[in-house]
Amino acid sequence: MDWTGGCLCGAIRYRATAAPAYASYCHCGMCRKNSGAPFTGFVQFPDGVFAWTQGEPAAYRSSDGVIRRFCGTCGSSLTFEADGLLFLTLGSLDTPEAVAFDRHTYTRSRLPGIALADGLPHVPGPAGGKGGRPID
Ligand SMILES: [Zn+2]
Ligand SMILES: [Zn+2]
Repeated sequence: MDWTGGCLCGAIRYRATAAPAYASYCHCGMCRKNSGAPFTGFVQFPDGVFAWTQGEPAAYRSSDGVIRRFCGTCGSSLTFEADGLLFLTLGSLDTPEAVAFDRHTYTRSRLPGIALADGLPHVPGPAGGKGGRPID
């Protein structure tokens, strides 16, 4: 099954030809600013299965060694990239409901009043290690 996604206006599209290898929610303040949402879901695919299929996303270096790509037309947040790893934003996927998540990261920055009832592990900071190293 192919996994596809893109931005709100449709200018940018992508495809992955295998299921996600890892997915986590990030509660850090930078992802909150970037997305405008209380927290952000990120999905990582196995090496070599991801490609942009339409358009060229704009890029922003949000901190040392970290690139976030987005649509230059509609502003949709599309990726978090660091250490050669690429994470796609959950909301940019066409089938976000099909993603199985592994954990919450940066929960020390979680907003008060956000109740998490999915039973996933909470990691106070970055998760660490390939397959578990998002986020700032
Ligand atoms: Zn767009
Ligand atoms: Zn984050």
